[in-house]
Amino acid sequence: MIGGQFIHSIKDLIGESKEKKKVELPKEDEQPHIPTKQEEKKQINTVPKIRDSSPSILNDTVAFDCVLVEGKRDQDIALPHTEMQQQKKAEDLGESLLVRPILNTTQTTISHASQTPSFKSQSQIIDGKALSTKIREQLAKQAEKFEKKNKRKVGLAVVIIGDDPASHVYVKNKIKACEEIGIKSYVVKRDINTTQDQLVEIIQTLNESDEVDGIITQLPLPRHLNEAEILELIDSRKDVDGFHVENAGKLFTGQDSLRPCTPAGIIELIKSTKKRLEGKHAVIIGRSNIVGKPIAMMLLEENCTVTICHSRTKNLARHTKRADILVAAIGKKEFVTGDMIKNGAIVIDVGINRHEGKLHDDVNFEQASKVASHITPVPGGVGPMTITMLMANSIKAASK
Ligand code: NDP
Repeated sequence: MIGGQFIHSIKDLIGESKEKKKVELPKEDEQPHIPTKQEEKKQINTVPKIRDSSPSILNDTVAFDCVLVEGKRDQDIALPHTEMQQQKKAEDLGESLLVRPILNTTQTTISHASQTPSFKSQSQIIDGKALSTKIREQLAKQAEKFEKKNKRKVGLAVVIIGDDPASHVYVKNKIKACEEIGIKSYVVKRDINTTQDQLVEIIQTLNESDEVDGIITQLPLPRHLNEAEILELIDSRKDVDGFHVENAGKLFTGQDSLRPCTPAGIIELIKSTKKRLEGKHAVIIGRSNIVGKPIAMMLLEENCTVTICHSRTKNLARHTKRADILVAAIGKKEFVTGDMIKNGAIVIDVGINRHEGKLHDDVNFEQASKVASHITPVPGGVGPMTITMLMANSIKAASK
């Protein structure tokens, strides 16, 4: 029961959400709340382990004048001067801005070597945006075929709790991708005061709906909600984020399953180089449940020899120097330097990091692109592929 009413169908869920207050992004002239050191520490300590699986990033063909904003949790933030206008511009280009609640600000210009390289790159850039566009065209055909056969569209439900502006931007981009491909999106918006029981009931209703093929809860959830319980409650057949323990187990045991979107996108990026994967030595830096571990399993499936490195790995460069394929998913600014990379390696940079008012990747792009044969840029590499893989998972879930 929600708000004294029983939920009977997905229409009830969405109907309720329409009555809710529209979430507003912070206005340009609004005075930000500057947190005390204690507040900042508290916020950092409450970073959930699983973060948004589908962060979208700035388009790499434009350099926006942005105000980088420190957020509640350690995600990257780019808040443009004229926020709504810039956001619209970015969305028109098929990308999103990463917007966080304003805590304090420093002004900078977003730019990257991949936009106007001031050095000679010897690597081929793996263009995640172009690949993403190509895959989305194929997905649109599959979605159309599904609709003809089943007399309804593939359905993806997105549950979003609270007013976090970044989460709302992420959701908006997912809806946009759905529209582009021909997937029907059901957005269930609830305010920050939503209880665990209410959220459980929402998920149960979505689990039972015949119109909903995929369910995602936009992460992070507000702190008072039990994220792990919610993720496990989602029907594993509708778990299009691929976070359910059943899907993780199936990946681990080599069974067909819904795979986490970022690693699935990475595999597509690597395959787009047309290099043979079998027998290659793949080194992954990072062992998170959403990137490091699943990508290790997927590369193993491709018959790579896989090494997983982490913060306790001794002599990291000794491992990375032997990598034919190097995946950097660390979350530390330009952590991987040129001297850590083997000549001719494929380098996949997953990182999106904020440091001193600028956006940074996990790999030093300038140095790496003098050594690697292929490299993903940030932005424009892994990021665009993540939402595309969410769309692919939704169609896969519907087709079972
Ligand atoms: P986590 O923080 O969950 O994991 C980071 C991993 O890096 C951990 O396994 C950690 O080791 C390891 N690590 C940290 N420091 C070192 C070090 N000095 N040497 C070796 N390993 C180290 O991050 P995520 O996996 O969630 O994300 C990684 C990055 O990718 C982030 O920048 C994130 O923003 C980005 N990301 C981008 C996505 C996209 O779509 N583009 C999607 C998801 C993430 P240990 O386990 O020992 O602590």
